[in-house]
Amino acid sequence: MPDIWDVHCHFPRNFDGDGEPDYARLIDERADALRAAGVVKASLLSGGRGGPMRPGPSYEESLVYARRHEDLFVPSAMIDPEEITGRDVRRLFEQGYKGLKMIGVRRAYDDYKYFGIYQISEELRMPILMHMGVIGGGVDYSIMHPRRDAKAAENMRRMTAMGRNQRRDVSAMRMRPFHMDTIANNFPELRLIGAHMGGTGNYDEATSVTRWRHNVYLDMSGGDTIERHAVERRLVGYEIGVEKLTWGSDCGNDEIAAHVDRLHWVFDQSGLDEDQRHRIRYANAAEIFGFQQPTLAGE
Ligand SMILES: [Zn+2]
Repeated sequence: MPDIWDVHCHFPRNFDGDGEPDYARLIDERADALRAAGVVKASLLSGGRGGPMRPGPSYEESLVYARRHEDLFVPSAMIDPEEITGRDVRRLFEQGYKGLKMIGVRRAYDDYKYFGIYQISEELRMPILMHMGVIGGGVDYSIMHPRRDAKAAENMRRMTAMGRNQRRDVSAMRMRPFHMDTIANNFPELRLIGAHMGGTGNYDEATSVTRWRHNVYLDMSGGDTIERHAVERRLVGYEIGVEKLTWGSDCGNDEIAAHVDRLHWVFDQSGLDEDQRHRIRYANAAEIFGFQQPTLAGE
């Protein structure tokens, strides 16, 4: 089985359980599911939680879980740039975090207020994975609607019970690929990974930025629709060079292997050779996170 690096592995994935879950068991199950699918490194997106209002593991606790499988997990810190400063990023780095993840920001990613974080991340060589586009989850109305599908109706009721359909200050307008252009121009050595190939609705922006910015990459997580778009819109190896793509699971344990299969389907449909596949499965991420040194032609 070829080696895979998963750049988009949330832990835990949701916080809707009753009481404190058994995180040690959950991380072991995640590790098992990843390894069974061929994943040998996974950027574990975690931490920043704690207290009655935000149940879940803190940064310190998350590292303890990640270290149960030290060969596999590469700790990445979930950060809210409204609350965290460059100095905090340095502390996370010193604790053992190798990367950062952002989503649901209050301002656009390229707001000057966030530049302190980017400056320190660039200095410390901590890649930042950024959610791109509309935040999904729950019911995909293009596939099924609660009006005619019992499972969708059940999904909607569950989301409502969890409070997921409540008012929240979140917008896809603040999480666009072109924001990575601003950041990359100001912090050219900072490694950025835009999730979900830029997000549905944003492929043109995503291909444009990765075409011209050396350290901007994308991940292919997000599920069936994005995998289908990757093929139908000839994104992989045509609009986006194979050096610019990484793979991420961003799904439950029971779906990881299926999405690895889908990745190989995308490869087949895109006509990639083995070296190109290896780039996307593993080598690009290994270089982004500094585990391997990139080489240039002629060296
Ligand atoms: Zn994510």
